[in-house]
Amino acid sequence: MSRETISMSRPSAGEAGRTGDWRSSHPVMRPELCLAAKAGKVTCQLCWSYCPDACITQGMPPAIELEYCKGCGVCAEECPAHAIEMVPEREHGTCELPEAER
Ligand code: SF4
Ligand code: SF4
Repeated sequence: MSRETISMSRPSAGEAGRTGDWRSSHPVMRPELCLAAKAGKVTCQLCWSYCPDACITQGMPPAIELEYCKGCGVCAEECPAHAIEMVPEREHGTCELPEAER
């Protein structure tokens, strides 16, 4: 099978664009648990690989672009070191919803 016939998706900032005020969960990175951060090199990167919104940048630890993160929790589920924790957006204090709508 040639390369041209293989169906591939490419990373992008998601069709819904910026998350704005509708994300309900928020990923929190714990670098002290991240395998890449502990190794001091760009290894693992499963969170980057699995993020369906392509809003994680490879690194030590990887960086999550919260402007585009949808709060799906896939990164936290796939992280073998449990270095990403999903917390309710309202508890993290970054939710842009007015108090009355939370
Ligand atoms: S999946 Fe977890 S351990 Fe691996 S790079 Fe991402 S945060 Fe670090
Ligand atoms: S919560 Fe979902 S959208 Fe946000 S960084 Fe993790 S995998 Fe990507």
